[in-house]
Amino acid sequence: MEAHRRARLLRVLELDVWTTRSKAAAVAEVVEAVVASAPIPAPRSLRAAAPVAPPLLLTPEAAEPPYIAPSDWAGLAEAVKACTRCKLCKTRTNTVFGVGPQDAPLLVIGEGPGAEEDARGEPFVGAAGKLLDEMLKSVDRSRSRNVYIANVVKCRPPGNRDPESDEVAACRPFLDRQIELLKPKLILALGRIAAQRLLSSTAPLSKLRGPQHAYGPANTPVLISYHPAYLLRTPSDKLKSWVDLKQVHRFLAGI
Ligand code: SF4
Repeated sequence: MEAHRRARLLRVLELDVWTTRSKAAAVAEVVEAVVASAPIPAPRSLRAAAPVAPPLLLTPEAAEPPYIAPSDWAGLAEAVKACTRCKLCKTRTNTVFGVGPQDAPLLVIGEGPGAEEDARGEPFVGAAGKLLDEMLKSVDRSRSRNVYIANVVKCRPPGNRDPESDEVAACRPFLDRQIELLKPKLILALGRIAAQRLLSSTAPLSKLRGPQHAYGPANTPVLISYHPAYLLRTPSDKLKSWVDLKQVHRFLAGI
């Protein structure tokens, strides 16, 4: 091994050249072995700048394009019937699309189908549905003439639990399209869950009842009242519900 190569390596390794002879000899042995097996690196100051790897371009994961619901009633109903956009599709018997005239000025919205609705594929049937029909009749309204009835989610949450936010979000394009096609003068949301999910609010029903809200790009007016299933359990609140219905009637009559 040439002396200058050894000296250069000692400098590169930043070893003290003013060391004792025995240590120097030991270091020299190690150095010699290293030199024999590997090329001598250039001094740090002379080293060419290592090529810098180009920055890793983290392309954002392709965002899923927003779901566009069919823009006609028949296509929309078919899309709901075949829908697997959320986990509720696995446990439903029937989808529950909605019922009523497609030009109804009043849209009533509940939270989701229960057991009877799931079995029959129609919203608000059974005891709660009967009570709703009576309430509507008291202000000269019915699902056969001038009220459209739908739910925030079109499939029954198992065990009648509240619909979860991902399920509501997955189903929202269907409800939004129904509202867009229907162009109701007024939306009446029944129950805390329907009201909160529709208005994206966490306020209690007691705060949401009374004032007029707005929904969607058309700023459709929204009023909130009790769910008939709740009224069956708490008849003492039927009077407040009657107050809400009169508010609905006055609004639709332009009073
Ligand atoms: Fe589709 Fe709505 Fe049923 Fe979920 S609840 S599967 S989004 S129709």
